[in-house]
Amino acid sequence: MAVLSVEGVRKAYQTPAGETVALRDITFSMERGDFFSLVGPSGCGKSTLLSIIAGTMSPTAGQVVVAGEPVTGPNPHIGYMLQQDNLLEWRTVRQNVLFGLEVRHDLTPETRERADHLLETYGLSEFANSRPSQLSGGMRQRVALIRTLAVNPDILLLDEAFSALDYQTRMEVTEDVYRIIRRERVTTLMVTHDIPESICMGDRVLILSPRPAVIRQALPITFDLPVRSPARCRGLPAFASYFDYIWKELGMDETHEDAVGSLAGESPVSAADQAP
Ligand code: ADP
Repeated sequence: MAVLSVEGVRKAYQTPAGETVALRDITFSMERGDFFSLVGPSGCGKSTLLSIIAGTMSPTAGQVVVAGEPVTGPNPHIGYMLQQDNLLEWRTVRQNVLFGLEVRHDLTPETRERADHLLETYGLSEFANSRPSQLSGGMRQRVALIRTLAVNPDILLLDEAFSALDYQTRMEVTEDVYRIIRRERVTTLMVTHDIPESICMGDRVLILSPRPAVIRQALPITFDLPVRSPARCRGLPAFASYFDYIWKELGMDETHEDAVGSLAGESPVSAADQAP
């Protein structure tokens, strides 16, 4: 059974100036453990789609089903990871990790044990009593991820989660987050404006058209590696081919330079490198 099923989702915003159709007809599904990246031109409806999946916004037509249940409101089985880590500075690392369970009134001996197990498995036990301010940017993101995973979400939504980090930290955090998500087999949908990141993390890249968005392609991504890691993918010839393909699908070779800059990401692979 699909963990996430998005079925014929349409979203039209009503504004004083008239109707804005953000999403035209979005349909896809994810199995447990899938990792999909979502890319598309700015303003095409990526955030709208995440909000509909999270249940904080209703679609105009169509529906979202998570673990067999139609989404009708804010969904507690969805974990969100955003650009800001939103850690509470006055709480220790462990108290931060337990926070999601507390607000869900789900702090039991079993869930506490799961949280402690995650802290231990991912090298955070020795920092359990530290404050977030004592941690590096990368460690903070790891705590934010563990806090999200502690509630055992059916789906993890990443919304530009790494874009506030400097380049070096971003590379480290990407490796770290990828390893943890894969090991825990969390079903993950990641919105990113960074094409290289979408390729090196996703099993599939969903390429959205300009607004009103449809899925132009659900591109499967495979690399010939015994153990996949984002950094290893970046060095492979297949990576450059995927980049080139997505770039063209997004119509970036026809659009304005500003858009080119924002979608190319911080990869050393540039548009010029990829030109045929
Ligand atoms: P993206 O995340 O891909 O940049 P968004 O989902 O934020 O795109 O927005 C998609 C389109 O819907 C944009 O044209 C935006 O202006 C419009 N939009 C977003 N939110 C609202 C709203 N609350 N009211 C009216 N229009 C909106």
